[in-house]
Amino acid sequence: MVATGVSPSTGALADLQCLPRVLGVHPARGEARGTLLFVVGGVHGNEPAGVRAIRRVFAEIERLGLSVQGRVVGLIGNARALAQGQRYLAEDFNRLWTDERIEALSDAAEPVRDPESLEQIALLEAFQEHLAGKWERVVLLDLHSTSAGGAPFTIISDTLQNRPFAFALPVPVLLGLEERIEGTLLSWFADLGHVAVCLEGGQNELPSTVEHHTAALWLTLVFAGLLRAEDVPGFGALRARLENSARNLPAVVELRYRYGIPAGAQFEMNPGFQNFQPVRRGEVLARIDPGSGVRDVQSPLGGRVLMPRYQALGDDGFFLGREVRPFWLWLSGWLRRSGLAWLPRALPGVHSDPDRHGELVVDGRIARWFTVELLHLFGYRWRSREGRSVRFVRRRDAR
Ligand SMILES: [Zn+2]
Repeated sequence: MVATGVSPSTGALADLQCLPRVLGVHPARGEARGTLLFVVGGVHGNEPAGVRAIRRVFAEIERLGLSVQGRVVGLIGNARALAQGQRYLAEDFNRLWTDERIEALSDAAEPVRDPESLEQIALLEAFQEHLAGKWERVVLLDLHSTSAGGAPFTIISDTLQNRPFAFALPVPVLLGLEERIEGTLLSWFADLGHVAVCLEGGQNELPSTVEHHTAALWLTLVFAGLLRAEDVPGFGALRARLENSARNLPAVVELRYRYGIPAGAQFEMNPGFQNFQPVRRGEVLARIDPGSGVRDVQSPLGGRVLMPRYQALGDDGFFLGREVRPFWLWLSGWLRRSGLAWLPRALPGVHSDPDRHGELVVDGRIARWFTVELLHLFGYRWRSREGRSVRFVRRRDAR
């Protein structure tokens, strides 16, 4: 048996126990015009830094009497888990954002009682209250942190409208997470046609993580046009702070691998790994005991390790990513704007699903090795495997 390698919950966070779901709304009144920005902290209850940053920025907006154009709404994700300092209580709150689940919640005959369902209903209501109205643009900034240390980074679905918001924050951008994990708040928002950016601000308990989140929120408020840079004290220093936190790291990294922890297995990440740390193929990264004895977990490829799990909860052991050269991003942007949208459907072994708009079924026996890469370039993402076929869906761009 291996130990879980983590200390138990850091305990309840006294100052975060009795907070309302809505941390603030600026301006308090005003019609729906321009950009609506939701900033959410504490989707994972052991990640308090985002909540602290939202409270700090909102207090500053008030103290300085800044006039906000549009609307910014600060929200707590999983308030019950946050009060306990636990990642989640019954279910990971950041795996529940699928249309099927949300429909089932609203159709439930019995009143739901499990903590994460209650949290989800409350958060959905908070979103809906503000989404009513004719907004030109809706943006989500989802503030997270990791159990491992290392530089902050953003995560997006690679839509053309998400890119500029992610690149407005001078830290690496991680692509492809939505192909490995289902039901994140981030993907749900992006699939609704909104802009959605997640910031992993650093290690869960570090004060610098609050600083990174604070800087990212100010930068996003300015980039989205809600505030003017000259109204934010020390704006240049805020930007420099984020920039310095991620020096010498690639601008864009694509996820290539997720190590999923088998149900019931004991997992222990070897100590000392940080986000973006380079690893070699075959390097021992962790130990696992599925019940039949401890064995090593080796890296199946060379690249950079991301989000190694040093906490007790969650079934993602670690991820591996590789740098993407800016040329490929430029090319995929160009292809998506070009009149070549028909091209993926013309590839051998690729068929559109007549019943599901924007979805392609790729026959693994006929498709060539480059088909997946080409589909990525055209803005499709891997969705599921169906026998020998693989289903791809087109990421939604602007509504
Ligand atoms: Zn998180």
